[in-house]
Amino acid sequence: MGMSVKPCIYCSAESVYYRHYSGEYLCSRCFTRSVQRKVARTISKYSMIKHGDRVAVAVSGGKDSLSLLHILSKSARRHGNELVAVTIDEGITGYRDESLKIAREFASMLDVEHAILSYRELFGSTLEEALKARDEKAISMSACSICGTFRRKAIDSIAKAVGADVIATAHNLDDMLQTFIINISAGDVERIAWMYPEPVEYANGLRKVKPLLEVYEHEVAFYALINDIPFQSEQCPYMNEGIRSSIREFLNALEQKHPGIKYNMLRTILKVSKVLRDNLEFKRYRCSVCSRECSTASGICSSCMLTMMLANGSSSISISSNGSNNNNNNSKIN
Ligand SMILES: [Zn+2]
Ligand SMILES: [Zn+2]
Repeated sequence: MGMSVKPCIYCSAESVYYRHYSGEYLCSRCFTRSVQRKVARTISKYSMIKHGDRVAVAVSGGKDSLSLLHILSKSARRHGNELVAVTIDEGITGYRDESLKIAREFASMLDVEHAILSYRELFGSTLEEALKARDEKAISMSACSICGTFRRKAIDSIAKAVGADVIATAHNLDDMLQTFIINISAGDVERIAWMYPEPVEYANGLRKVKPLLEVYEHEVAFYALINDIPFQSEQCPYMNEGIRSSIREFLNALEQKHPGIKYNMLRTILKVSKVLRDNLEFKRYRCSVCSRECSTASGICSSCMLTMMLANGSSSISISSNGSNNNNNNSKIN
């Protein structure tokens, strides 16, 4: 007799997954359902998506965002929600072409509308051209910072253009922890307050939500695997995560030794961010160039500031010191 496979604790079919932090053995069907249920609970707990909302799902073509689209598509109709997958084309030869194709085909398979907005359409240049300008003007910003600054504005623009009420992004539990530690390292208390998952409505009428925030990164990957979700595995050629990948490794080593510790950390982050959200006063400004809402008192949003720097060089423009213009905390590519 060989080693026996443990049965699923819910239906006694053969298990394919052992959930370390809870001790559950799960078959693929029960695993899939458990992830879908967890996401549904997160959405309702933090009032992320309301009945009848039109939801723009930011889809990059990676496993996290395609899994998010898959999960939301299973429950959208039941909740009276329309989904539209939105993809940003940064203009990265080769890399983006493949993921655009994957995103388009997967959305069509799920019968979900798909829209694309390119940096060239919105900003007049591709990421590659922007990076060339950065080098010529000797601007010290990483490719990820530049791309993240543009991407946040591009996602807002396309969500607005497709008539969405909510933007859903695929940040998972691991992303949340990494962002929290980055914010602690940078002394950015306001950004910690913004991490609280209950969405606020921005001046443009949009809300932003992260339905996967309570799901471990490796469970999102496993969800994609067992549900045959085709995703781009190739990494962005400009990716340079620096501190984020050090933090990821540290947290994974910790979780290995102490199963469930990531989840406990998330619980604490949610409490801390709630207290901060309730007690900090947020000043909001309008960008004088594009009229988008921004947090910088300079009156110019980070994206317009960056566009000006790339056109004119940074010598004439000073970047505000609150960090909004030059970090990539939320610029992770899903
Ligand atoms: Zn089962
Ligand atoms: Zn602006």
